[in-house]
Amino acid sequence: MGWGIFEDSIETLGRRGRGMSAPFSVVLVTVDCLRADHVSFLGYERPTTPFLASLAQESFVVPNTIVGGVPTYYSFPVILASRPPLAMGRDVVGITPGETTLATWFKQCGYSTAGFVAANPYVSSKFGYDQGFDKFQDFLDQPIGAGSGGVRTKMNRALERFCRGFKPLGAVYDELYFRYCQRVVPQVSSVDSLRQYPAADVVVDSALEWLASIGSDPFFLWIHLMDPHAPYYPGEAALRSFGARTSSPSRQRYLNSFWNRSDIGPNRLRLKRESVLDLYDAGIRWVDMQMARLVDSLRSLDLWNRCALAFTADHGEEFLEHGGRFHAPGTMKEELIRVPLLVRIPDLPGGRMSRQPFSHLDFAPTLLEALSLQVPDSFRGRSRWREWSNGDDCELVAIVESAECVNPNRSEERLAPRVLCIRSERYKLVLHFAQDTMELFDLYEDPAEKQPLPDHVEANTRRRLLEYARQHIENNSMPRASKFWLRARLRELRFYLPKAASASSLN
Ligand SMILES: [Zn+2]
Repeated sequence: MGWGIFEDSIETLGRRGRGMSAPFSVVLVTVDCLRADHVSFLGYERPTTPFLASLAQESFVVPNTIVGGVPTYYSFPVILASRPPLAMGRDVVGITPGETTLATWFKQCGYSTAGFVAANPYVSSKFGYDQGFDKFQDFLDQPIGAGSGGVRTKMNRALERFCRGFKPLGAVYDELYFRYCQRVVPQVSSVDSLRQYPAADVVVDSALEWLASIGSDPFFLWIHLMDPHAPYYPGEAALRSFGARTSSPSRQRYLNSFWNRSDIGPNRLRLKRESVLDLYDAGIRWVDMQMARLVDSLRSLDLWNRCALAFTADHGEEFLEHGGRFHAPGTMKEELIRVPLLVRIPDLPGGRMSRQPFSHLDFAPTLLEALSLQVPDSFRGRSRWREWSNGDDCELVAIVESAECVNPNRSEERLAPRVLCIRSERYKLVLHFAQDTMELFDLYEDPAEKQPLPDHVEANTRRRLLEYARQHIENNSMPRASKFWLRARLRELRFYLPKAASASSLN
């Protein structure tokens, strides 16, 4: 096992008196759609994360962690490769072939590596997320539940077309069709048949099986969980565990179908908001329960004392706070860009960080330095370990970037207009390139972002944050001829060409 790259680091660890002879192993858990203000270890009144709250006592907890992009496909390159989402070219999605990530870095250093991703296609091997992993399981080839969608027959499609020709009739059709679907779908006895993603226990089971197989090698394990992602099917145990209203599987299906309706406005949707939030919160609780099980197993495998653990999310979720649902790209509200972050390093007491924004761009460098490991040159973020370990406070800004691209599988959509957000502790500047607009929010005075400040107010703040935006774009525009851009385009051709042709021409 070659630790060459860590030789200095191991010596440093010795000087710190941690008594280490080999590097720590690392578990990274990311959760889809988990907003910071719904985890109890950051103050949410409902006990969604009691286990993580106990782990937070011995961890670094960062209350103002800001993602680098929204949604999933703009966020993960920032978490795993410490680079802004559009820096490889606007039309490149995911990890580019040959790009250094946490996984490739740990692998290069001799770690055993594995990734278990709960069937999110945007974090699959298609987009390069398997790179660097000895074992990578994305669960996309396994049958999950049928989901909650209705079945449209030929006849009712024809009826729909007819009704849409007369606007009031269109609304009547939608209402009747929704009710019809609720009546004709068969009763279900378990939410397992309704889920579109494997639940956290299934993913953790696979991870534990792998952990039991690798012996005493240092390892890097990445687990991505989808339980708080819509449709929300948490199951009764999680709902019961914090006293939320219980919901039968059929009721859960009804709530998800209702919440997914595009034909009714926020006022009607709001009638079911609290019930839907019960389901969402219970999904978080289920993640917390599985985190407890994962750590228990690490303890019983005698791995926990030498294992660092990081827990975060790729973005949050909207529940009509600003009229929206789910996590559409282009929205930069706090419920979408602020996520939890907890990092447990063995033998260190941890602590709670200040309210300064901490960008996901700095996550990987900070984690590596916390473990006294070298940081790859390609990582664009900066380690904030000095601030974390000394409790220093310095003014920071976080930049969030996305494009108004709803489906990155369509290459033409990837060139959709950019949206950029510059978030300081107090102010947030949002630039919508399509509309050529700039909005400045004062988060101290208006934490719910109800009203942007008038244009003539805070000119100096605008200028200062705009300068960050200018530098960001200047530093992250990569020439088209870059080898990474070219490789990413070739990878896609391989997917679009027939298999035989791609094998002969590209391999
Ligand atoms: Zn996501």
